[in-house]
Amino acid sequence: MTEPKLNLVGGQWVAGDATPNINPSDTSDIVGHYARATADQARDAIAAAKAAFPAWSRTTPLERHAILRRASDEILARKEELGRLLSREEGKTLAEGIGETVRAAQIFDYFAGECLRPEGELLPSVRPGVGVEITREAIGVVGIITPWNFPIAIPAWKIAPALCHGNTIVFKPADLVPGCAWALVDILHRAGLPDGVLNLVMGRGSVVGKAIVESPDVAALTFTGSQPTGAALAVQSAHLMRKAQMEMGGKNPFVVLADADLDVAADCVINGAFFSTGQRCTASSRIIVEEEIHDQFVAKLAEQMSALRVGHALSEDTQIGPVVDESQLTQNEAYIEIGKSEGARLVGGGHRVERDTKGFFQMPALFADCTNDMRIAREEIFGPVASVIPVRDYDTALAVANDTEFGLSAGIATTSLKYATHFKRNAEAGMVMVNLPTAGVDFHVPFGGRKASSYGPREQGRYAAEFFTTVKTAYTAA
Ligand code: ADP
Repeated sequence: MTEPKLNLVGGQWVAGDATPNINPSDTSDIVGHYARATADQARDAIAAAKAAFPAWSRTTPLERHAILRRASDEILARKEELGRLLSREEGKTLAEGIGETVRAAQIFDYFAGECLRPEGELLPSVRPGVGVEITREAIGVVGIITPWNFPIAIPAWKIAPALCHGNTIVFKPADLVPGCAWALVDILHRAGLPDGVLNLVMGRGSVVGKAIVESPDVAALTFTGSQPTGAALAVQSAHLMRKAQMEMGGKNPFVVLADADLDVAADCVINGAFFSTGQRCTASSRIIVEEEIHDQFVAKLAEQMSALRVGHALSEDTQIGPVVDESQLTQNEAYIEIGKSEGARLVGGGHRVERDTKGFFQMPALFADCTNDMRIAREEIFGPVASVIPVRDYDTALAVANDTEFGLSAGIATTSLKYATHFKRNAEAGMVMVNLPTAGVDFHVPFGGRKASSYGPREQGRYAAEFFTTVKTAYTAA
């Protein structure tokens, strides 16, 4: 067994139950051993973060800038190694793993810059002889709970703004992907964070996550994960009067109008639905196609899908890596059966495939002849499975696109300015894409959705300040 990687509590690496981190492309490959924290260690971590808060929140913008910058530089310098670690533990292709690692470096770079751009307002009062100052202050201890599908980018886009705005952190990554989380925390620790500012507690949601969520000392909770868990944690947070930011599921529509450039539309669908093995909350899962071009478009997708290369994430020619684990693959297979039993037509894919190594390989699946009330069109599957829903015209397409409990991302392929503009204004989603895949966003602009997809302020870019700070209005008599 390799030396286990430990949890970081109050600046000390503390031991716990060592658990293997298994490669979904090759279950005989153990990426490393990682210590699961106990609930008591999580509570110690919260206490350490609380103790570290007063001093950290008073550091200068330049001190915080320097640490985030150093972290960004190291992540970028190690992008090949960290990208490989990411692909090994999560199953994204190496290109996707390196791309996500570069993204993490860019996020730290962005928030290093934000440290140097504090904002405030100085206003005259409506009363004579009084001045008013409006400032943003750090909140306190932030609990950060992250999912397995973006093992470095999501931790980065929560940790970087939390630190930038002067908060201290208790961070619990998903149990399936502790590798990138540990590497990121190690980088930030060595970059000069004072003890207790960033604490890492790896392990299970039901143990470590629960201890974080139950603590009244956690002043703000930011979570990305499944819809039911996020909804439950939001309710628990409300009981504690705590700030909460929840990014949950999606059932993202991609509309293809008859006037679309079908090459562009097909690229958007293949990328949006199947890249990263469909394991993105912004993945396209409902492909809403105008009847006039329906058969032609489905045939085009089927042809392109049959050429997709599914395999070991680290093989050079792989386009789609494995599903993350056996339980996710079993769930995907169950949805294939549900789709068939509901009367949808499986155009292709959905079956397991064998490769040289034992992994969780599944061919991307496309259903046609779907209706929007089928379970495969309503429930988030979180795998490489998409459903095509034929519609009469644009108005029906928009109505179907919006007929969902979710509202994260929505896309349209069209060459019409009129429909593109109308769709941008009327899609009930936090993010709208025109002639672009529903997945794939920038790091300097807001990320988030509506309805059951998101709760609380947006993430990323300048909008991150909304969650990671609290506003103070101070009056002074002259
Ligand atoms: P996913 O399908 O992405 O694993 P989950 O919502 O199950 O979605 O998990 C997302 C994150 O939330 C993970 O880090 C997980 O360990 C954590 N988690 C799950 N259940 C709870 C819970 N009851 N309390 C706190 N954290 C939890």
